Amino acid sequence: MEDGKPVWAPHPVDGFQLGVIVDIGADGLTIKPLSQKGKTFLAPMNQVFPAEEDVNKHMEDNCSLMYLNEGTLLNNIRVRYSKDKIYTYVANILIAVNPYYDIPKHYSPETIKSYQGRSLGTLPPHVFAIADKAYRDMRVLKMSQSIIVSGESGAGKTENTKFVLRYLTTSYGTGQDIDERIVEANPLLEAFGNAKTVRNNNSSRFGKFVEIHFNAKNNVVGGFVSHYLLEKSRICMQGTEERNYHIFYRLCAGASEDIRKRLHLDSPDHFRYLNRGCTRYFASMDTDKQIGQNRKSPEVQYQSYSSIGLDDTEKLDLFRVVAGVLHLGNIDFEETGSTSGGCILMSQSSQTLSYCADLLGLDQDDLRVSLTTRVMLTTAGGAKGTVIKVPLKVEQANSARDALAKAVYSCLFDHVVRRVNQCFPFKTSSNFIGVLDIAGFEYFEHNSFEQFCINYCNEKLQQFFNERILKEEQELYQREGLGVNEVHYVDNQDCIDLVEARLVGILDILDEENRLPQPSDQHFAETVHSKHRNHFRLTVPRKSKLAVHRNIRDDEGFIIRHFLCLGGGLKNNDALHMSLESLVCESKDRFVRELFENSNNSKDSKQKAGKLSFISVGNKFKTQLNLLLEKLRSTGSSFIRCVKPNLKMVSHHFEGAQILSQLQCSGMVSVLDLMQGGFPSRAPFHELYNMYKQFMPDNLTRLDPRLFCKALFKALGLNENDYKFGLTRVFFRPGKFAEFDQIMKSD
Ligand code: ATP
Ligand code: MG
Repeated sequence: MEDGKPVWAPHPVDGFQLGVIVDIGADGLTIKPLSQKGKTFLAPMNQVFPAEEDVNKHMEDNCSLMYLNEGTLLNNIRVRYSKDKIYTYVANILIAVNPYYDIPKHYSPETIKSYQGRSLGTLPPHVFAIADKAYRDMRVLKMSQSIIVSGESGAGKTENTKFVLRYLTTSYGTGQDIDERIVEANPLLEAFGNAKTVRNNNSSRFGKFVEIHFNAKNNVVGGFVSHYLLEKSRICMQGTEERNYHIFYRLCAGASEDIRKRLHLDSPDHFRYLNRGCTRYFASMDTDKQIGQNRKSPEVQYQSYSSIGLDDTEKLDLFRVVAGVLHLGNIDFEETGSTSGGCILMSQSSQTLSYCADLLGLDQDDLRVSLTTRVMLTTAGGAKGTVIKVPLKVEQANSARDALAKAVYSCLFDHVVRRVNQCFPFKTSSNFIGVLDIAGFEYFEHNSFEQFCINYCNEKLQQFFNERILKEEQELYQREGLGVNEVHYVDNQDCIDLVEARLVGILDILDEENRLPQPSDQHFAETVHSKHRNHFRLTVPRKSKLAVHRNIRDDEGFIIRHFLCLGGGLKNNDALHMSLESLVCESKDRFVRELFENSNNSKDSKQKAGKLSFISVGNKFKTQLNLLLEKLRSTGSSFIRCVKPNLKMVSHHFEGAQILSQLQCSGMVSVLDLMQGGFPSRAPFHELYNMYKQFMPDNLTRLDPRLFCKALFKALGLNENDYKFGLTRVFFRPGKFAEFDQIMKSD
């Protein structure tokens, strides 16, 4: 950074502000802002970056800028966003800023057409270009592909995922039902798995990997959806500004009179599982909205269920169980007052009990008894296997009821996904393109077990990203014999080990704890600590909560902080009492019975009769996640990093500091560091040869492509520091390929 040249210096709101360095001192740089109003201020050396000469200039590929750093990246994205150019590349990675409004024609059929078969970079950056690249890579390399979409809640992951699916089915489908069904499955999944939260009115509360399968001719033949970790706590409880899953409100508000009567529906205010959160009805989310298409009214919303092949009976089955869960939530208990200390149903709950029993095909009395008592097998006094009924306290009965509601709803969700999968079956598949839409890192004061799992998942995905982008880049340099410095990247394997190692990992310790007669958070925390004494990622935070604390600093002063806080939420309160589980497993209603038969929890629980049937959510997730990563590793991959522009969820509003922190968290800043120190633009010799031979005299074009390039560069007098010759291609320093291209074209 030279005297008087503009720099990006930190700014608390905008992320960065433009200034010039006026003094260099021991405690940092003195910066004079270029705006009229600002006062001179001090900034740490490692947070000040050179700015481009023209800060209003923007580049489709951020790597074409002269300086690659957080300041120029943020500015490039800002300038582009102000012109409705929401997509930007950093090499092959796509950054997508949520515009929070429908940009005209941005996703029209004409736009889809224009991207078909076009190489990345030939048209403006777009999610369609990434989809097409995945498709072309699949075809050329004969290898399945995955597109990993990440970002925080509300950043646009799900919308971009839908655009990829729409693009691929429209462009490479066979025009049959199947194409439409892959797209139409979404409203159904979203009705059951999305909810209004404070951060996103249509927040996906589950992760999914959607595969589109192709035949040997590379046409769409079917699809397959895998889902991960539905947020179960939401079924019983939501924040005051949040809601339960959309389906509950849609059913309350949009069902026909006949269905309302049959299911004894009422307004959301009437139900405990809804009325502690927000009960408002929102036209925008209580219909099957699709960007760029007309919004549908609630009366016709069920059409999309039909278009994926659900008949009226199936629809009613789904609604019946949803209503059953709602009524279950309205059952209240009171103390009996007897010495046994048990509880009974409040008298006003008897009607609700009968609705619930009826809708779920259960016997009323059995349900009543199972909710208020717990069956245990005693081993006391050698009398093995004696069954005793232990009365439950009001609190315990409330938990039992909620556990049943969560179990029923999550089995219903599993069923919805299975059912969706039946509507785009395929016999043979040559390759697939999979799109991963899964929640990003979450930071809360009190992290729940679900958030812990999400963070653990992101840790794994970050490792995969590092592997693909950073390691591969380094390996490419080595393969090409470039002899550049090694790239440092954060290896988080030890953090992953801490969570998933056999026996001593947090997940296994948690399972062990939950098998104890009286599991406790404190005992669990102590065990974790005793097994990992002085582990640098483990600290005991204030308020005696256990945290897995990651605080990594790389050479450039870039900090990634990551907390996996394990607090009160860790006790497995989803455990379903044996008696309740066997009750639903033996429901008179075939649909309900099958929901549980098909869920793999029941087998596990039967082996553990006599205790709370323990469903090891964590270890099940670990297995699922490892399978997913194995799958991702076997495919070629592309990355889409989604960015939420502001917390207000409005259009044309760019909150720089917010955005900067998202770019840092997603590893984009590390990528820039890597690129700035390396050679971000590269071109194979034969490509350069083909591109420029027309401008060259005959004696040059007779050379082989490598020599041709050498001769060309010499003739142009390019600075030797600006490029390097590898074995198969030329590598350029940041911004230098653009300069070279300009010279060639102007000559
Ligand atoms: P979550 O993790 O909570 O599921 P998400 O990243 O999936 O969040 P989306 O649901 O995809 O976020 O996006 C949130 C909202 O932002 C959408 O409902 C839509 O209103 C708007 N939005 C996102 N992307 C676009 C886009 N490309 N064009 C127009 N609006 C968009
Ligand atoms: Mg989503």
